[in-house]
Amino acid sequence: MRFTSSVQIDIEVLEATDTIILNAAELDFASVTIDGGQSARVSTDAQAQTATLRFADRLGPGRHRLSIDYSGKINTQAAGLFALDYQSGAAQKRALFTQFEAPDARRFFPGWDEPAFRTPYDLRVTVPAGQQAISNMPEAGREMRPDGSAIVSFRTTPAMSSYLLFLAVGEFDRITTSVAGTEIGVVTRRGAGEQGRWALESQAQLLPWFNDYFGTPYPLPKLDNIAGPGSSQFFGAMENWGAIFSFESILLVDPAITSEARRQSIFEVDAHEMAHQWFGNLVTMAWWDDLWLNEGFASWMATKATAALHPEWEPLLGQVDNREAAIQLDSLRTTHPVVQRITTVEQMSQAFDAITYQKGEAVITMLEDYVGENAWRTGVRAYIARHRLGNTVSDDLWRAIQQAAGRPVTDIAHDFTNQPGVPLIRVESASCAGGRTRVALRQGQFSRDERDAQPRAWRVPVVASTGGPALRTLIEGGAGQALVPGCGPLVVNYGQAGYYRTLYAPALLARLTENYPRLRPIDQIGLLADNWELGLAGYQSPAAALDMVEAVPANANSRLLMRVASILTQIYRMHEGNSGHQEMIARLAADKLGPAIRRLGWSARPGEPANDAVLRAALIQRLGDMGDPAVVSEARRRFAADDPSVTAGPLRETILGAVAYNADAATWERLRVMARGERNPLVKGQLYGLLGFVRDDALARRALDLALTDEPGATNASRLISSVAQAHPDLAFDFALAHRERVDALVDASSRSRYFASLGAGSADAAMIDKLSRYADRHMTPQSRAPADRAIASIRDRLRVRAEQRPPITAWLEARRG
Ligand SMILES: [Zn+2]
Repeated sequence: MRFTSSVQIDIEVLEATDTIILNAAELDFASVTIDGGQSARVSTDAQAQTATLRFADRLGPGRHRLSIDYSGKINTQAAGLFALDYQSGAAQKRALFTQFEAPDARRFFPGWDEPAFRTPYDLRVTVPAGQQAISNMPEAGREMRPDGSAIVSFRTTPAMSSYLLFLAVGEFDRITTSVAGTEIGVVTRRGAGEQGRWALESQAQLLPWFNDYFGTPYPLPKLDNIAGPGSSQFFGAMENWGAIFSFESILLVDPAITSEARRQSIFEVDAHEMAHQWFGNLVTMAWWDDLWLNEGFASWMATKATAALHPEWEPLLGQVDNREAAIQLDSLRTTHPVVQRITTVEQMSQAFDAITYQKGEAVITMLEDYVGENAWRTGVRAYIARHRLGNTVSDDLWRAIQQAAGRPVTDIAHDFTNQPGVPLIRVESASCAGGRTRVALRQGQFSRDERDAQPRAWRVPVVASTGGPALRTLIEGGAGQALVPGCGPLVVNYGQAGYYRTLYAPALLARLTENYPRLRPIDQIGLLADNWELGLAGYQSPAAALDMVEAVPANANSRLLMRVASILTQIYRMHEGNSGHQEMIARLAADKLGPAIRRLGWSARPGEPANDAVLRAALIQRLGDMGDPAVVSEARRRFAADDPSVTAGPLRETILGAVAYNADAATWERLRVMARGERNPLVKGQLYGLLGFVRDDALARRALDLALTDEPGATNASRLISSVAQAHPDLAFDFALAHRERVDALVDASSRSRYFASLGAGSADAAMIDKLSRYADRHMTPQSRAPADRAIASIRDRLRVRAEQRPPITAWLEARRG
């Protein structure tokens, strides 16, 4: 598990010096020379991840070539150069891949491992006989050696950041097609090539769309997407320039196991990584402070491209899900601004969170809606053209958008990206006169743990409608009036593009609930999300949202039904330990969701809409989580009978999930035998994940013990512990802490602190607050303890919600039962 290498770096010395400092982590230096002559003494600093080269004779100004022979480590987790082991037939195979973002190129070569240091790369690699190598650029030459190995060299890359360099070596299949002058490929372990067909076709659809949107054609001769058999706790795919890496589960489609939801997310993840080829790779943020420029933008672009190419999936309705994911973090005092100060390696790793991705996406959605689709695209095109092969900060984007829009945008953007938190728009009154509705709005702040604090100030773009034409206005200085055409029920944040919560005066909310079935699906989803969270946070009674749930029609949009299902599951969990209350909730769920399940059935109907398949799986899963007797017994019956839907097909994982979660010891053991015997690494990963997501305590303990054996495989083990944490956070955290060193080895170094905090974060036990705090004191630095502090804040909030909101929720359920 080691590699040897040599690197030549062309540098320009500006001022005479005898010292060069570069990034290096866990590299052993054999020799360092400059210009083929003078050698250097090397000292390394493991903490700072640097190497210092000292020369006896000072280096004069001018161009020099630095030559370094060194060796490094092949890792078992996705950081630097790493190995993924898998079975192929009876044979054990190993393939190598690289993962460098954010600070791990320094584990592969010594250099200046920061995004602003753009340089072209030439890569040459010795490849064992019978294996292939893939990198960012196409192969340039190949020299065969007597033992069958080959020295493969790749064409020079454009000037780019170190974190985007890529190499894979293994026994691969590669399927290709050519679109708009670019060769597109999907690379898989040998024998799985055809499973890349869906991704290949998706990429072939997406590339011309992106070429057009960005106004600058894709700049490299080829674009591969390489599938890795395994998983990471922290990412599914990585946008290396010209050589996207994806774990198999988010790239390959196997008709025997892939669900419709997974097929759709493969397309969206592809779109996200492809958007990075421009936004991130061609134009790169100068430093990790602006990571959101990469991630928020690529997330937004993925939704947009998917909406353009697959409108039947209704991806725009998913924007409320994104907003909610961001607000979960952003409404606690432990949040951070979208643009944040990053100084340490651990902070870089922590920056990949819902604020960076989902709030970034939500803010872009709102600003695009504010300036208009065309002006926004014109601004983006200008930004890409102006900064191609360069590095930028957020204000470079705002300047380009503002110029294209011909109106101020930067100040609004700053309000939402430079300060943390979620605006609250209170709709204080609305009165009808002369065919128009006069509305009074006031801006506050939505917070779950600082409800009474002085609100921050935002300039908030607001769209309002009474069913007719929408009115657009900007709330500045904390309050605003609007004259909305028409006198129907008033929806503020009409279209749900705004990043804020809306709190209606009770009479206005009652009118909306009355008219709920007639609202547009996007507003139905947004209103339900807002009112549910406002209820939990104590801004109003949670009964308001439950009344809305009651008003959801049986034939509602599938994404609305999924939101209902997720709220009901949340209430069900909140009543853990009270079977009487859980029964009432399960009955409500059966009433609201049962008709949809009966309409959809358990098998796909020929020609059914794609989202029916997504809804079918989601409802079976949620009802299974709530122990719905009809769903659980049907899942068990199919499992016991080896029904074809359990051995193959899009519902396979869902049905097995319902069986596993409600499993007894014999069933769990049978699932484990399936996992152990499974040869397909993708299915094997799924099955080990399912073994952890169990309701029963004793089985959860067995799953944890299993994680520390060799059985699940190096990258499935941490996933197994995480899946136990979903239903048993305290058990999973205690176990991981008791075996800290062994668990550390299952997670890549820069993500460990995040991993431990994530295990305990779902707890509803006050004791976990102390445990997390002790863990942070002992094992995290003051700069890196944010994930523990956030986990603690969310546990405190969960305890508060249970104490304050369980009684009114129970009262509502009892009144409903009559
Ligand atoms: Zn990304």
